[in-house]
Formats: sequence, C-alpha cells, structure tokens
Amino acid sequence: MPQQHETYYGLPEQVAFCSKCVYSNQRPTSAVEFKHRPDSKKTTLHFDEEGVCDACRTAELKDEIDWGGREKELLKLLDRHRRDDGQYDCIVPGSGGKDSFYAAHVLKYKYGMHPLTVTWPPIMYTEYGHSNFRNWVEKGGFDNISFNQNGRVMKLLTRLSIENLFHPFQTFIIGQKNIAPKVAVKYGIPLIFYGENEAEWGNPIADNISSLRDQAFYTMKSLDEIYLGGVSIKELVERYDIPLADLMAYLPVHREELEKSRIEVHYLGYYLKWTPQESYYYAVEHSNFKARPFRTEGTFNKYASIDDKADDLNYYTYFIKFGIGRTTEDASQEIRNKHLTREEGCALVKRFDGEFPERYFNELMDHIGMTRERFMELCDQFRSPHLWAKMDGEWKLRHTVNNDGVDDR
Ligand SMILES: [Zn+2]
Repeated sequence: MPQQHETYYGLPEQVAFCSKCVYSNQRPTSAVEFKHRPDSKKTTLHFDEEGVCDACRTAELKDEIDWGGREKELLKLLDRHRRDDGQYDCIVPGSGGKDSFYAAHVLKYKYGMHPLTVTWPPIMYTEYGHSNFRNWVEKGGFDNISFNQNGRVMKLLTRLSIENLFHPFQTFIIGQKNIAPKVAVKYGIPLIFYGENEAEWGNPIADNISSLRDQAFYTMKSLDEIYLGGVSIKELVERYDIPLADLMAYLPVHREELEKSRIEVHYLGYYLKWTPQESYYYAVEHSNFKARPFRTEGTFNKYASIDDKADDLNYYTYFIKFGIGRTTEDASQEIRNKHLTREEGCALVKRFDGEFPERYFNELMDHIGMTRERFMELCDQFRSPHLWAKMDGEWKLRHTVNNDGVDDR
C-alpha cells in the first residue's frame, strides 16, 4: 500500500506515464492563466484506458487527416478575407521564432495574404532571439507592431508571479494572448492566425476545432475576475499603487468590443501539417533564422523557444511544480513526430530534465529584484509532496519515466 502524500494544485495523486511518449499525467492542460492560483484546480493531461495520452492520440489522428481537404478549407477561409485595397487582412502574432516565421511567410508568399505581424516582446530578449525577430521583419518582409511594456510594471508583475505562483512567464503568456485581439479590434482586422493547434500539447481533443475558440479567454467581463501574479487588479491598484492605465496592457480586450468586431481566431496548424522541426527548416531556408548557438539548459534542443532569457527559468519552475522538465516536453513532441524513439526520449530525460538554468539566472534575478536564496526557498515551497522526496539533503522525484524515482523501487 503506497503511502499517501499531500498533492498540490489539484494534480492526480498517482503518477503515471504515457506508454508512447514520456509525458506524465501531471501535465496541466488548462490555459486559464488569469485565475491560476496555487490552490486552483487544474485540468491535467488525459490518458485513455490503454495508458496513451491525448497528445499522442492527436498525433496519430494527424496521419489520418486529409490534409488536401484541410488546405481547401483554408483557401476558402482566405478567399473570404483576402483584400487588395491596401488594408491588412490578417494578423499573425509572434516573436519571429520558427513558428511565427513560417505562419506569416506561407500566408503572405504562398497564399497571397497581407498579414500584419504583432509582437509582445519577451521579458528579456536573448541576442539570437532578437536577431531572429529583426530577421523576420526585415528579411521576411512584414510590417510589425511590437508592444514595448512599461518596464517597472513588467518587473513587478514578473516578481509577483514567481512569488505567488512560481510562474515567471505569466506576464508573457497573458500579454502574448491579448495583444493580437487588441490590435485586431483597433485596426479592424477580422482574422487572427495562431500557429500550432493547442492539441499538440495534449489539450483536450474535443477542443481541437479551428473555429472561434472560447472567447472568454480573450475577453474581460469585469475587472474583479482578473488576477495578475496572483494579486487582484484592485489590490495592485490600491496596495501596490499601480495606476489602472499601467495594467491595461495585461488585460484582455473588452468582451463587447470583441463581439462587435467579429474577429475570427484560427490555428494554422489545423489546416497545414505542422511539425516544429519542419518549421525550423523552413525558417532557415527562407531567412537567416539561427538556432541557439549552444544547447538549451534543461533540454537537448537548440531551436525551440529561444527568444526569452526567462524561458529556461520558466521550464525549470514547471519541473519543480509538476515534475515535468523541458526535456520531457521536447522529447515527447519529437517522439510523436517520429524523430526519436521512446527509449531515446527516456535516456534524454534522464540526462537533461530539470537541469538548473544557470546561464541567465543571475541576470534575470537582478532584473526583477529577487535574490538567488529567495528563489531557492520558493522552489522548495512549490514542490508538491506527492512528487518530491528529500533524500540526504537532496530533492529527488518519487517517480520518473525511467522508473528510477525514490518510490519506484
Ligand atoms: Zn503520450
């Protein structure tokens, strides 16, 4: 009879691993970032009766999809929106990473659309991330609107997100989700293209539709619903003395405005077969796109999510909270795309998962005004007892995909 340990974040008590990839059932799928609090109930990755995760099942379906038919659907959609009167006809949000490069490029040069690209810049650009962004706009040939955030507010919110939620990336995720609908409303551009479908990462298959997504995610009914960095808007204004105007960048577009504007949000990954490796090759082929000049700490990969110095730290906090590190993410995806076997994936997880992101750590902590000691304290505070055990002064996972966790023996 296994001993019961406390479970945080509403995660499943029993840890299980997908029999096809290296994901565990602890992986959250909920995209609701506004209400994301330490005590919130999370939705986690669903496994079927054969022990296979939704992300793998979705990948299998990909092979059966009639991609020719999907492209016809895309053409219809584009024909309905394409304009030749000098107006933009769609928006592609992104940072100029491989996926946004690919999306904007095919829409413009293959399908004759007139995209406006929009960017919510990273918390701290990496050098090569910034040069990929410049390259997207200059070599790729796109107009771009970048929203340069109020640095003081951004730093405070990032610090609060770490303190309260252990989620360094919350401001980025929120800003990035909201920027496109806001620009769409402002410029009267009714079509937004995100890249990959979220089902890639194991979000419920039932959500896997290309039409308008749950609008509530992009809209704001009332300010009371919204928390940033785990703090209510009211408290940020009253206690932290931030004018509401300085917080608006992080808030979604107002529901009424969105409804009036009839914006459609689509995932290009629904219409076009999309693999990260291939969008990387595409970006390299059509531009100066550069991978990171070194291996990313915590994984084996060099070309995914490389724009933001805070990204590596974000993956690390994910590892602390859910026992799932960046290698688990990357390997699972590569297994599904048949670029790795499960055995190779397991070996990579053993080697790199949860590696501490030392490279940019001090710089980031200086930037947001947090000490290393404080960060380490928070690490321990956010470890769910059902995932972690302390052995001889060192934290170890109770269960791993390699079956060598402290409770696996
Ligand atoms: Zn899987």
